[in-house]
Amino acid sequence: MENNLFRVENLSTSFFTHLGEVQAVRDIGFSIGKEEVLGIVGESGSGKSVTALSCMRLIQSPGKITGGSVWFRNEDLLKKSNRQMRDIRGNRIAMIFQNPMTSLNAVLKIGEQIAEPLMEHKKLSRKEAMKKAVGLLEKVQIPDASRRIHSYPHEFSGGMRQRAMIAMALSCDPDLIIADEPTTAIDVTIQSQVLDLMRELKKEFSSSLLLITHDLGVIAEICSRVVVMYGSMIMEEASVEDLFYKAAHPYTLGLLKSIPRPGRQANERLNPIAGTPPVQLNPSPGCPFAPRCEFAMKICRTGTPGFTTLGDGHRSACWLLHENAPANPLRKGE
Ligand code: SF4
Repeated sequence: MENNLFRVENLSTSFFTHLGEVQAVRDIGFSIGKEEVLGIVGESGSGKSVTALSCMRLIQSPGKITGGSVWFRNEDLLKKSNRQMRDIRGNRIAMIFQNPMTSLNAVLKIGEQIAEPLMEHKKLSRKEAMKKAVGLLEKVQIPDASRRIHSYPHEFSGGMRQRAMIAMALSCDPDLIIADEPTTAIDVTIQSQVLDLMRELKKEFSSSLLLITHDLGVIAEICSRVVVMYGSMIMEEASVEDLFYKAAHPYTLGLLKSIPRPGRQANERLNPIAGTPPVQLNPSPGCPFAPRCEFAMKICRTGTPGFTTLGDGHRSACWLLHENAPANPLRKGE
């Protein structure tokens, strides 16, 4: 997999609480190619954000990465020193967080915050870095950028703050951007503008993008491939097209049924997945979706299903796909 820019193998992360071990990420793996956009989708608590933080080595106590490797350009980030990781973060891998107000420094002017990584990683002078900060704010379509670099975060609207975060992320021309729910905290009317902007800039800067979201609409808009997480594990991975038209996992199908569709009647009810997401404190053996799955069989509660390959880059972890499984009810009428 030489052309993989980023590759996660058998990654596991746990939080060691006074109640016991919460297994937030369990033995997951995926890869991202150069200039590719990979989405990770799942409900709250599925492990997607912990995956992003683990990849950046930003897990804090009582959390701990308990196994696996995270390869970036054929170097394992989990073996890097803290100092080496500081050089990589914000420079070669940048992160955009969900809430810009908590990620931006409230007492530092926007321009200074964009200039800081340029001075630290690219060794630009303050004057050069501020000039580049103006250019970056213009690229993210902040009007009157040369004046706006002197504003504080609270003087920006929510959408403008998220644009400023994108400018910060792009400042050092990273190979990979990890964006954790980048549109969740902003007004729905500007979400699509921010996604369009990310798509354009990703192309212009030739960066790859790992996009974490709970929103399949966002996945459809910007991603080429998608990983579906549930109960700290990967349930399915596919191209976006295969996910929407050939989903092969009951959880993915449940997610697809629960989103509004074009042409839906105003009084038509959405179809949520019954039950509640699992707590990952001492998880029971078997498929994590079993307590909510209408197709669950005896084996689902005792054995964890392995992946079945269904096509190019399409894999799904469900006992229904096993060669010895009874007729697959998801494939009725095919
Ligand atoms: Fe449902 Fe069993 Fe498949 Fe899990 S393995 S999704 S419980 S059928």
